[in-house]
Amino acid sequence: MNQFDHALEQLSRATAVQSFDSALIRRVSSPEREVRVTIPVVMDDGATRLFEGYRVQHSSIRGPYKGGIRFHADADIHEVRALAFWMTLKCAVANIPMGGGKGGITVDPKELSAGELERLSRGFVRMLYPVLGPKVDVPAPDVNTTPEIMSWMVDEYAKLTGDTTGAAFTGKPLGKGGSEGRGLATGLGGFYVFEALKEKLNLSQSARVVVQGMGNVGGNAARLFQQHGHTVIAISDSKSGIVDEQGLDIATVEAYKQEHKTLVGFPGARSISNAEMLELPCDVLIPAALEHQITHVNAARIKAKVILELANGPTTPDADDVLFAKGVVVIPDILANAGGVVVSSFEWEQNLLGEHWTEQVVFEKLHTLLSKEALTVWDHSQTLHTDLRRAAFVVALERLAAAQ
Ligand code: GLU
Repeated sequence: MNQFDHALEQLSRATAVQSFDSALIRRVSSPEREVRVTIPVVMDDGATRLFEGYRVQHSSIRGPYKGGIRFHADADIHEVRALAFWMTLKCAVANIPMGGGKGGITVDPKELSAGELERLSRGFVRMLYPVLGPKVDVPAPDVNTTPEIMSWMVDEYAKLTGDTTGAAFTGKPLGKGGSEGRGLATGLGGFYVFEALKEKLNLSQSARVVVQGMGNVGGNAARLFQQHGHTVIAISDSKSGIVDEQGLDIATVEAYKQEHKTLVGFPGARSISNAEMLELPCDVLIPAALEHQITHVNAARIKAKVILELANGPTTPDADDVLFAKGVVVIPDILANAGGVVVSSFEWEQNLLGEHWTEQVVFEKLHTLLSKEALTVWDHSQTLHTDLRRAAFVVALERLAAAQ
C-alpha cells in the first residue's frame, strides 16, 4: 500500500462512522489535477541534470489549492498525492478558506550546491507557473524547503507573470513579504492543540515528551514544550536519537547538532535508534519527521499515552487500530500540524491586503482558531464515539459538503 492508499483507507473509515453524499466522496477520492514536470538544471560542472517534479492540486472546493513543496529523494507522485489530499482536509479542519495541494521534487537537496538548489527551485516555478498564483494555487515550504527557497520561487513567479502581491507563495522570509510567526507556526500550533485537549486527555502540567525529528517542526516543538515546563526526554534527527530521562535542554542539543552535524556523542545522554525512540515510555510522543513511522510492526510496542502527529501521515491505518485498542490517543496530523498552513493563510491574506500584522496578532489569531477547532474535533469524537482522526475527517467533510 502506498501513502495515497492509506489516505483513502482513512477516508473510508471516517465515512463508516458518518455517511456523506457519494458524489462528494468520489470528488475527494481523486485529485482535480496532477502535473508532472521534468526540470533541467545546469549543474556547477556545466552538465545538465534532469529532475522530476510534481504538483498535485487535490481540491479547490473551499478555496485556492494550498500546500507545501517537498524536496526529498523518496518523494514520488503517490506521496505527493496523499499529502495534497491531507492538505484539503487540514484546511477544512482549520476552517481557513483554502483548498488542498502539494508539490515535490525527487532530490536530496544536501547533494546540491546553493547555486544548483536555486536553479532547481526557479526551474520548478518556470515549469509550473501557468497553474500557480494567489487565486489558483499557493505553495509553501515542506520537508527540506526553506524561506530562502520560497523567496527564489516567488521572485521567479514575479518575473514570469508580473505579479506584485507576493501572495503566490507563503513561508517567505520576513523581508520578502513573509508573515511574523510563520517559522514557529507548525510547532506552536501543535502546542496550542495539545493545550486545548490536555485536560480532556488527563495529562499533567508536566508531561514527559519524546520528539522524532529536528527540522523546523520537531526542533521548535521540542523547544516550546520545554519552555512550558514539560520534560523532553528524547529527540532524534534523521539518523539517530538521544535520551536523557532527566530532560534535555533543546537549545544545547541544537547547538551541539549545529557544530557536530550529528547527535551522536551528546554529553550526558545515551544514543538510541529512531525506531527504539518511538517505543520509549512517555506521556506525549511527537512524530515530526516523515510518513509511516508507526505501523502494525511497532504499534503494539508504543508506550506513549498520547501521540501528537506533527508530521504528515506518520501513523498507518492498521497502527491506528492497535493504538485505539490500547487506549493510546492519536491527535491527528490534519489537526495537530495545521498551524503552519494557518499562518500561511494569514501571510497570503496580509499580502493581498498589503498589511503586516505583529507577531502578537498572528499568534493570538492562531491560538483562537486552533483551540476552537481542536474542541470541535474533540466534541465530534465524543458524539460519534470514535477516535480523533475519524472525527477530524468528519469535521472536514462536513465543511467540504457545505461548500461544494
Ligand atoms: N507543509 C506544511 C503542511 O504540510 C504547510 C503548508 C502550507 O503552509 O501551505 O501543512
